[in-house]
Amino acid sequence: MLTGFHVAVIGGDARQIEIIRRLNGWGATVYIAGFNQLNESFTEAIDLDFESDQVKQLDAIILPIPGMDEEGNVDGIFSNRLISISEDWLKKTPEHCLIFTGISNNYLNDLTKRVNRSLIPLMDRDDVAIFNSIPTVEGTLMLVIQHTDFTIHGSRVIVLGLGRVGMGLARTFDHLGAEVSVGVRSSKSAARVYEMGLTPIDMTNLQDVDLECDILLNTVPQLVVDASMIKQLPSHALILDLASKPGGTDFSYADKRGIKAILAPGLPGIVAPKTAGQIIADVVYRLLSKNIRKEIDHDA
Ligand code: NAP
Repeated sequence: MLTGFHVAVIGGDARQIEIIRRLNGWGATVYIAGFNQLNESFTEAIDLDFESDQVKQLDAIILPIPGMDEEGNVDGIFSNRLISISEDWLKKTPEHCLIFTGISNNYLNDLTKRVNRSLIPLMDRDDVAIFNSIPTVEGTLMLVIQHTDFTIHGSRVIVLGLGRVGMGLARTFDHLGAEVSVGVRSSKSAARVYEMGLTPIDMTNLQDVDLECDILLNTVPQLVVDASMIKQLPSHALILDLASKPGGTDFSYADKRGIKAILAPGLPGIVAPKTAGQIIADVVYRLLSKNIRKEIDHDA
């Protein structure tokens, strides 16, 4: 249980709704900002008042998955108000206050360093990223089905990258009967692809490699699906780029060639916000109870 913990949830999307519900269920005192346009109301959550002393009690602040922009603003789809978090406000949190974000940027890294608070970028954690790959793969399947007029079964699929998302994609498309090849850059990953019964493609030496396929799924967050790769694709091919913005595809070249190429960020929040929220809430629960329990008990 999180009885005695004070947590602020600031901004975000449908994932945060599940996080708030879970925190409430675990007995935490939850403060919320950025949900004024949400139709449902959280009877057990308290509106966060940035001018009040609430900040002095916070054990944790949960920011949205994208974190903060370079000006300290936090985005929330359920609010028309700009929420900005100042250094002065953050300084008033207790020293043990943990700041959770999905991903971080230089601004947020510097800010939390200046106020000497621990920043936890959740998507950098293997546990969160691996759990999160489940709804990501399901969202990919949805988009592939929506944007093709042929079955996955029997189609030629190339997955670029064998990381946490790539591994799930390769396995799932293989199980659905696709002919799967996986682009990797290390011999270790190539060996893993072979062990999985799939075909490795050496991305460090793509000359003379046959890249013709029906579906190209990119998970590499660098420009890898370039003109030379796109040139080899048949006109009916679909490129689905899952890598973080701006993706790893030369979208303008794909467009010029008339190949459908889609950047598909944030799939867990779109296809399974409840599950994606649970994944985050569970990790927040573990980290809060592991790191802050003593201080709460000590203060009590
Ligand atoms: P990951 O575990 O770090 O995997 C990335 C893979 O890319 C690794 O296999 C890595 O190879 C490979 N790679 C990196 N640079 C490369 C290069 N220059 N050439 C060839 N391969 C390269 O990351 P992940 O968790 O799978 O996530 C992949 C991307 O998807 C990230 O950008 C993440 O933000 C994004 N993502 C998107 C969604 C969505 O909804 N669209 C959801 C979750 C994650 P090595 O193993 O050799 O390093």
